[in-house]
Amino acid sequence: MFNQYNLDEIRDRARAAFIGMAIGDALGATVEFMTASEIAAKYGIFRDIVGGGWLRLKPGQVTDDTEMALCIARAIVKTQGWSLEAVADNFAAWLKSRPVDCGDTCRKGIRAYLLHGRLESPPNEWDAGNGAAMRLLPAALFSLPDGELLKKYVIEQAHITHNNPVSDAACLCLGQLMHMAICGAEKSRLRRHVDGLVARFPTFNFVPYRGLATGYVVDTMQTVFHWFFRGRNFEECLVGTVNQGADADTTGAICGMLAGAYYGMDAIPKRWLKKMDSKVISEIESVVERLIMESPVGRTM
Ligand code: MN
Ligand code: MN
Repeated sequence: MFNQYNLDEIRDRARAAFIGMAIGDALGATVEFMTASEIAAKYGIFRDIVGGGWLRLKPGQVTDDTEMALCIARAIVKTQGWSLEAVADNFAAWLKSRPVDCGDTCRKGIRAYLLHGRLESPPNEWDAGNGAAMRLLPAALFSLPDGELLKKYVIEQAHITHNNPVSDAACLCLGQLMHMAICGAEKSRLRRHVDGLVARFPTFNFVPYRGLATGYVVDTMQTVFHWFFRGRNFEECLVGTVNQGADADTTGAICGMLAGAYYGMDAIPKRWLKKMDSKVISEIESVVERLIMESPVGRTM
Protein backbone atom coordinates (compact mmCIF):
# COMPACT_ATOMS: atom_id res chain seq x y z
CA MET A 1 0.00 0.00 0.00
CA PHE A 2 2.84 2.41 0.83
CA ASN A 3 5.31 0.97 -1.63
CA GLN A 4 5.72 4.33 -3.31
CA TYR A 5 7.58 5.47 -0.18
CA ASN A 6 11.26 4.87 0.30
CA LEU A 7 11.64 3.86 3.93
CA ASP A 8 15.38 4.62 4.08
CA GLU A 9 14.76 8.13 2.84
CA ILE A 10 11.87 8.59 5.28
CA ARG A 11 14.09 7.45 8.16
CA ASP A 12 16.85 9.85 7.15
CA ARG A 13 14.49 12.80 6.87
CA ALA A 14 12.71 11.94 10.14
CA ARG A 15 16.03 11.70 11.98
CA ALA A 16 17.18 15.00 10.46
CA ALA A 17 13.89 16.61 11.50
CA PHE A 18 14.28 15.60 15.17
CA ILE A 19 18.00 16.36 15.33
CA GLY A 20 17.40 19.59 13.39
CA MET A 21 14.83 20.60 15.99
CA ALA A 22 17.29 19.99 18.85
CA ILE A 23 20.02 21.91 17.01
CA GLY A 24 17.71 24.86 16.36
CA ASP A 25 16.75 24.86 20.05
CA ALA A 26 20.38 24.73 21.27
CA LEU A 27 21.53 27.33 18.72
CA GLY A 28 18.68 29.77 19.26
CA ALA A 29 18.64 29.57 23.07
CA THR A 30 21.83 31.65 23.25
CA VAL A 31 20.07 34.64 21.69
CA GLU A 32 16.57 34.10 23.10
CA PHE A 33 14.95 37.41 24.12
CA MET A 34 17.62 39.49 22.35
CA THR A 35 16.53 41.82 19.53
CA ALA A 36 17.89 41.38 16.03
CA SER A 37 19.97 44.55 16.40
CA GLU A 38 21.40 43.45 19.76
CA ILE A 39 22.46 40.17 18.14
CA ALA A 40 24.03 42.02 15.20
CA ALA A 41 25.91 44.37 17.55
CA LYS A 42 27.27 41.49 19.64
CA TYR A 43 27.95 38.79 17.02
CA GLY A 44 27.64 40.28 13.53
CA ILE A 45 25.88 37.16 12.30
CA PHE A 46 25.29 34.63 15.08
CA ARG A 47 26.07 31.13 13.69
CA ASP A 48 27.63 28.84 16.32
CA ILE A 49 26.36 26.69 19.16
CA VAL A 50 28.01 28.25 22.21
CA GLY A 51 25.52 27.92 25.07
CA GLY A 52 25.04 30.77 27.54
CA GLY A 53 22.07 33.05 27.00
CA TRP A 54 19.61 34.01 29.71
CA LEU A 55 19.33 30.34 30.79
CA ARG A 56 23.16 30.00 31.12
CA LEU A 57 23.21 26.81 29.09
CA LYS A 58 26.10 24.52 28.30
CA PRO A 59 27.06 24.49 24.61
CA GLY A 60 24.67 22.06 22.89
CA GLN A 61 22.20 21.95 25.77
CA VAL A 62 18.55 21.85 24.70
CA THR A 63 15.54 23.44 26.43
CA ASP A 64 11.83 22.78 26.95
CA ASP A 65 11.13 22.63 23.21
CA THR A 66 13.18 19.47 22.69
CA GLU A 67 12.44 18.09 26.15
CA MET A 68 8.66 18.26 25.70
CA ALA A 69 8.94 16.63 22.27
CA LEU A 70 10.94 13.84 23.89
CA CYS A 71 8.19 13.48 26.54
CA ILE A 72 5.69 12.76 23.73
CA ALA A 73 8.10 10.44 21.92
CA ARG A 74 8.81 8.39 25.07
CA ALA A 75 5.09 8.07 25.81
CA ILE A 76 4.46 6.61 22.34
CA VAL A 77 7.42 4.23 22.58
CA LYS A 78 6.47 3.10 26.07
CA THR A 79 2.78 2.44 25.38
CA GLN A 80 3.38 1.36 21.76
CA GLY A 81 0.42 3.50 20.85
CA TRP A 82 -1.21 6.86 21.34
CA SER A 83 -2.07 7.49 25.01
CA LEU A 84 -2.78 11.08 25.97
CA GLU A 85 -2.51 10.10 29.66
CA ALA A 86 1.00 8.78 29.06
CA VAL A 87 1.94 12.02 27.30
CA ALA A 88 0.52 14.13 30.14
CA ASP A 89 2.21 11.91 32.75
CA ASN A 90 5.55 12.54 31.05
CA PHE A 91 4.89 16.29 30.91
CA ALA A 92 4.05 16.19 34.63
CA ALA A 93 7.17 14.22 35.58
CA TRP A 94 9.23 16.58 33.45
CA LEU A 95 7.76 19.67 35.15
CA LYS A 96 8.47 18.17 38.57
CA SER A 97 12.08 17.52 37.53
CA ARG A 98 12.66 21.30 37.52
CA PRO A 99 13.40 21.82 33.83
CA VAL A 100 15.68 24.64 32.76
CA ASP A 101 12.67 26.43 31.25
CA CYS A 102 8.89 26.05 30.87
CA GLY A 103 6.41 28.40 29.21
CA ASP A 104 3.54 29.84 31.26
CA THR A 105 0.75 28.23 29.21
CA CYS A 106 2.48 24.86 29.31
CA ARG A 107 2.93 25.12 33.07
CA LYS A 108 -0.71 26.06 33.59
CA GLY A 109 -1.96 23.12 31.50
CA ILE A 110 0.36 20.59 33.14
CA ARG A 111 -0.66 21.84 36.59
CA ALA A 112 -4.33 21.36 35.67
CA TYR A 113 -3.52 17.78 34.71
CA LEU A 114 -1.68 17.21 37.99
CA LEU A 115 -4.44 18.73 40.10
CA HIS A 116 -7.58 17.66 38.22
CA GLY A 117 -6.48 15.02 35.71
CA ARG A 118 -7.54 17.41 32.98
CA LEU A 119 -6.33 16.34 29.53
CA GLU A 120 -7.94 19.17 27.58
CA SER A 121 -7.59 22.84 28.45
CA PRO A 122 -10.74 24.91 27.97
CA PRO A 123 -10.78 27.07 24.82
CA ASN A 124 -8.87 30.29 25.46
CA GLU A 125 -8.38 33.14 23.00
CA TRP A 126 -5.11 34.14 24.72
CA ASP A 127 -3.44 30.72 24.59
CA ALA A 128 -2.01 31.32 21.13
CA GLY A 129 1.59 30.80 22.12
CA ASN A 130 3.91 28.50 20.18
CA GLY A 131 4.21 25.86 22.94
CA ALA A 132 1.96 23.29 21.25
CA ALA A 133 3.60 23.66 17.84
CA MET A 134 7.20 23.39 19.06
CA ARG A 135 6.74 19.85 20.45
CA LEU A 136 4.47 18.16 17.87
CA LEU A 137 7.10 16.32 15.82
CA PRO A 138 6.65 12.87 17.45
CA ALA A 139 2.91 13.05 16.69
CA ALA A 140 3.75 13.72 13.03
CA LEU A 141 6.27 10.87 12.84
CA PHE A 142 4.02 8.31 14.52
CA SER A 143 1.10 9.08 12.18
CA LEU A 144 3.06 8.96 8.90
CA PRO A 145 1.53 9.20 6.28
CA ASP A 146 -2.07 9.19 7.58
CA GLY A 147 -3.57 12.71 7.57
CA GLU A 148 -6.50 11.82 9.84
CA LEU A 149 -4.29 10.27 12.51
CA LEU A 150 -1.97 13.26 12.21
CA LYS A 151 -4.82 15.64 12.95
CA LYS A 152 -6.00 13.62 15.96
CA TYR A 153 -2.55 13.28 17.54
CA VAL A 154 -1.36 16.81 16.83
CA ILE A 155 -4.50 18.51 18.15
CA GLU A 156 -4.92 16.23 21.18
CA GLN A 157 -1.35 16.82 22.36
CA ALA A 158 -1.80 20.56 21.73
CA HIS A 159 -4.98 20.80 23.80
CA ILE A 160 -3.32 19.45 26.93
CA THR A 161 -1.99 23.00 27.30
CA HIS A 162 -3.11 25.16 24.34
CA ASN A 163 -6.74 25.15 23.12
CA ASN A 164 -6.91 27.95 20.60
CA PRO A 165 -7.97 28.03 16.93
CA VAL A 166 -4.88 29.94 15.77
CA SER A 167 -2.55 27.56 17.59
CA ASP A 168 -4.52 24.61 16.19
CA ALA A 169 -4.24 25.95 12.64
CA ALA A 170 -0.48 26.44 13.02
CA CYS A 171 -0.01 22.98 14.56
CA LEU A 172 -2.02 21.20 11.90
CA CYS A 173 -0.30 23.04 9.04
CA LEU A 174 3.14 22.37 10.53
CA GLY A 175 2.30 18.70 11.05
CA GLN A 176 1.16 18.41 7.44
CA LEU A 177 4.31 20.15 6.23
CA MET A 178 6.33 17.61 8.20
CA HIS A 179 4.49 14.70 6.57
CA MET A 180 5.02 16.20 3.12
CA ALA A 181 8.68 17.10 3.63
CA ILE A 182 9.54 13.71 5.13
CA CYS A 183 7.91 12.00 2.14
CA GLY A 184 10.09 14.08 -0.18
CA ALA A 185 7.84 16.96 -1.31
CA GLU A 186 9.48 19.85 -3.15
CA LYS A 187 9.64 23.32 -1.59
CA SER A 188 7.17 24.69 -4.15
CA ARG A 189 4.65 22.10 -2.89
CA LEU A 190 5.27 23.10 0.74
CA ARG A 191 4.88 26.74 -0.24
CA ARG A 192 1.49 26.05 -1.82
CA HIS A 193 0.41 24.36 1.40
CA VAL A 194 1.41 27.38 3.47
CA ASP A 195 -0.39 29.65 0.98
CA GLY A 196 -3.50 27.57 1.74
CA LEU A 197 -3.08 28.28 5.46
CA VAL A 198 -2.69 32.01 4.73
CA ALA A 199 -5.85 31.96 2.58
CA ARG A 200 -7.84 30.51 5.50
CA PHE A 201 -6.02 32.47 8.24
CA PRO A 202 -4.65 35.72 6.69
CA THR A 203 -2.93 36.53 9.99
CA PHE A 204 -0.18 34.06 9.00
CA ASN A 205 0.71 36.09 5.89
CA PHE A 206 4.50 36.57 5.93
CA VAL A 207 4.95 38.64 2.75
CA PRO A 208 6.20 41.26 3.36
CA TYR A 209 7.95 39.85 6.43
CA ARG A 210 7.39 41.99 9.53
CA GLY A 211 10.45 40.73 11.39
CA LEU A 212 8.58 39.69 14.53
CA ALA A 213 9.68 36.40 16.15
CA THR A 214 7.89 36.40 19.49
CA GLY A 215 6.30 33.44 21.28
CA TYR A 216 2.94 34.32 19.69
CA VAL A 217 2.48 31.42 17.29
CA VAL A 218 1.62 33.79 14.42
CA ASP A 219 4.92 35.67 14.76
CA THR A 220 6.78 32.39 15.24
CA MET A 221 5.35 30.77 12.11
CA GLN A 222 5.83 33.91 9.98
CA THR A 223 9.51 33.88 10.91
CA VAL A 224 9.90 30.17 10.22
CA PHE A 225 8.11 30.44 6.86
CA HIS A 226 10.09 33.49 5.80
CA TRP A 227 13.49 31.96 6.49
CA PHE A 228 12.65 28.42 5.44
CA PHE A 229 11.41 29.50 2.00
CA ARG A 230 14.26 31.99 1.56
CA GLY A 231 17.12 29.78 2.78
CA ARG A 232 19.07 27.70 0.23
CA ASN A 233 20.27 25.07 2.71
CA PHE A 234 19.74 23.90 6.30
CA GLU A 235 22.31 26.29 7.74
CA GLU A 236 20.95 29.39 5.97
CA CYS A 237 17.40 28.63 7.12
CA LEU A 238 18.47 28.30 10.75
CA VAL A 239 20.93 31.19 10.87
CA GLY A 240 18.36 33.55 9.35
CA THR A 241 15.71 32.38 11.80
CA VAL A 242 17.65 32.63 15.06
CA ASN A 243 19.22 35.98 14.13
CA GLN A 244 15.72 37.46 14.41
CA GLY A 245 16.12 36.92 18.16
CA ALA A 246 13.05 37.06 20.44
CA ASP A 247 11.81 33.45 20.93
CA ALA A 248 14.84 32.25 18.99
CA ASP A 249 15.13 28.79 20.54
CA THR A 250 11.56 27.97 19.53
CA THR A 251 11.65 29.55 16.07
CA GLY A 252 14.98 27.73 15.69
CA ALA A 253 13.47 24.43 16.83
CA ILE A 254 10.52 24.68 14.44
CA CYS A 255 12.61 25.85 11.49
CA GLY A 256 15.13 23.13 12.36
CA MET A 257 12.52 20.36 12.16
CA LEU A 258 11.17 21.64 8.86
CA ALA A 259 14.56 22.28 7.25
CA GLY A 260 15.92 19.03 8.67
CA ALA A 261 13.06 17.06 7.11
CA TYR A 262 13.47 18.87 3.81
CA TYR A 263 17.27 18.76 3.44
CA GLY A 264 18.07 15.49 5.27
CA MET A 265 20.99 14.43 7.51
CA ASP A 266 23.76 15.21 5.01
CA ALA A 267 22.84 18.90 5.07
CA ILE A 268 23.28 19.31 8.84
CA PRO A 269 26.62 21.04 9.53
CA LYS A 270 29.01 18.70 11.35
CA ARG A 271 30.27 21.53 13.54
CA TRP A 272 26.75 21.87 14.96
CA LEU A 273 26.17 18.14 15.33
CA LYS A 274 29.46 17.73 17.22
CA LYS A 275 28.44 20.38 19.77
CA MET A 276 25.19 18.63 20.69
CA ASP A 277 24.77 16.60 23.88
CA SER A 278 25.53 13.06 22.66
CA LYS A 279 23.04 11.51 25.10
CA VAL A 280 20.22 13.61 23.64
CA ILE A 281 21.24 12.76 20.07
CA SER A 282 21.39 9.02 20.76
CA GLU A 283 17.99 9.07 22.47
CA ILE A 284 16.57 11.00 19.51
CA GLU A 285 17.99 8.42 17.08
CA SER A 286 16.47 5.56 19.02
CA VAL A 287 12.99 7.11 19.43
CA VAL A 288 12.83 8.20 15.79
CA GLU A 289 13.54 4.63 14.69
CA ARG A 290 10.71 3.34 16.91
CA LEU A 291 8.25 6.07 15.91
CA ILE A 292 8.80 5.42 12.20
CA MET A 293 8.74 1.63 12.46
CA GLU A 294 5.49 1.72 14.49
CA SER A 295 3.85 4.31 12.24
CA PRO A 296 1.43 3.25 9.47
CA VAL A 297 4.17 3.65 6.86
CA GLY A 298 6.64 1.58 8.87
CA ARG A 299 4.21 -1.21 9.71
CA THR A 300 3.39 -1.96 6.09
CA MET A 301 7.04 -2.39 5.10
MN1 MN B 1 12.86 26.74 25.00
MN1 MN C 1 11.37 29.55 23.49
